Amino acid sequence: MKLQEIFKKYSTEKKAKKVFKEFRDKQGVVCKKCKGKEHYWKEDKWQYECKRCKFRTTLRSGTVMESSKLPYRYWMMTIGLRSATKKRFSALEIQRQLGHKRYEPVWSMLHKLRVAMGRRDDKYKLDGFLEIDEGYFEGQRSKEEVAEDKYVAHENKGKRQVKVLVAVQSAPVEKKHKIKNRPNRKAGFLKMKVVEQVSKAEINYEVKRHIAPTAKAITDGKRCYRDLKEILADHQVVICEDKKEVSKIFPWAHIAISNAKKMYLGIHHSIKKCFMQNYLNEFCYKFNRRNFGEALFDRLIVASVEAAWYEFR
Ligand SMILES: [Zn+2]
Repeated sequence: MKLQEIFKKYSTEKKAKKVFKEFRDKQGVVCKKCKGKEHYWKEDKWQYECKRCKFRTTLRSGTVMESSKLPYRYWMMTIGLRSATKKRFSALEIQRQLGHKRYEPVWSMLHKLRVAMGRRDDKYKLDGFLEIDEGYFEGQRSKEEVAEDKYVAHENKGKRQVKVLVAVQSAPVEKKHKIKNRPNRKAGFLKMKVVEQVSKAEINYEVKRHIAPTAKAITDGKRCYRDLKEILADHQVVICEDKKEVSKIFPWAHIAISNAKKMYLGIHHSIKKCFMQNYLNEFCYKFNRRNFGEALFDRLIVASVEAAWYEFR
């Protein structure tokens, strides 16, 4: 769908609300009180009523829009801007496109969508053959952290390295499909998780959470990966000093890290560490659905509707 079509489709609040309701109906509403799934629709109030316990659920509650005062059409148009175009928009640009006065609600809307994207991807564990590596991103420290740390050189005071565990499915490309100057492996699904430390304990924890025990992994020789042979079906270690050779062995882990840096650090300057995971969620969500084309728009609405009973407020 083109941008103009999206803007036309959701030009009025009524249209946007109707489409959002259709998605929610398809997904099914779950009662917060009794977990009942059968509801009446109260047309006059625009609310669902649980058939069992009469508890009322508004159209927004339990979705990514819960507790947001922004109109439905802003959400739908933003989902469009986020998913239906190749161009990347910053919160400021989206604010301008929507013509909204305040920046904060738009910024917060984008983060809620990123949380929904992360939840959607967290439903699945990676399996098969995986390249596992870690990336280092430059983040921004909070004012409190800067004040507390008296020993960091002045120019580095506001900066903070954010460590990210990267796992990506990868399979060899058949000889007949090989393209010159392109990786000799093809990528499947990707996960990127912010970790406090690249330590054995944290890596083990994240691997157990996000990777199936039947998976096979390849990593470099760092100590933090030593337990993987016990957690996963197979673990190969590659010790190689030559950077070019390493990028042949781990092409996708490296491509993912460098693209995430280019994409996000280019438009979102100085990301605070606590928000880095949200940006990575969006990067992974899109990477994992890179072949979805126009369907990405619908998928993102589904992810927003079904995220159910948010903690993020
Ligand atoms: Zn109920």
